[in-house]
Amino acid sequence: MLNRRMFCGCASLAAFAALSATAARAQGTECAVFTPARQKEVSPDEAIARLKAGNERFLSGKSVNCNLIEQVKETAKGQAPFAAIVGCIDSRVPPELVFDQRIGDVFCARIAGNFVNTDIVGSLEFATKIAGARAIVVLGHSECGAIKGAVDDVRLGNLTAALAKIRPAVDATRTDGDRTAGNSAFVQAVAVTNARLAAGKLLEESPLMKDLVGQNQLRVVPAMHDVATGKVTFLA
Ligand SMILES: [Zn+2]
Repeated sequence: MLNRRMFCGCASLAAFAALSATAARAQGTECAVFTPARQKEVSPDEAIARLKAGNERFLSGKSVNCNLIEQVKETAKGQAPFAAIVGCIDSRVPPELVFDQRIGDVFCARIAGNFVNTDIVGSLEFATKIAGARAIVVLGHSECGAIKGAVDDVRLGNLTAALAKIRPAVDATRTDGDRTAGNSAFVQAVAVTNARLAAGKLLEESPLMKDLVGQNQLRVVPAMHDVATGKVTFLA
């Protein structure tokens, strides 16, 4: 609790929970914001299931319509998101939209090519160990420009160093065709490899999160978003 107060400014968790309960009654349960108590009730498997259900709502055009300003008020004193997503900066893959989530539901770390470095690992340690998120999804996507850039070894300003972080996925992916961005099957395969490697790296580089997984407090799952359909396919 000490850490949560330090990082989140949760001066009064009880008041926060009471306010949220009142607002949830006003808005309906599907619009209830996550409180520490509610977050605690969600298992890692249930957190993944919530994201899957959210993507199904998104695909069917049945995203939940909540009063977001009410949710802003309800979460003003603290946050307790149930999951975290590591995604690409691609404008077609906004995690909150494709998983049909709202204010205070999920942490999002976004970086071109959804790779993992020390800063991302540290951010996710905060999201899980300190703030209590129960699952992390590493969300790759089809037609990723960063993956294409890494495949073709593009060199441009600071992008060169960023794309170098994706090279291990390029090198680890086999193809009988050209190893160029013109080979769309290869680009897709590299994106899948990259999401899997990033999910693995999160735990390799974080004993903290590895312990949480060992205690069944956390799941880390790679997934792929299809920019042509909006569908997210979980890879584990
Ligand atoms: Zn991308």
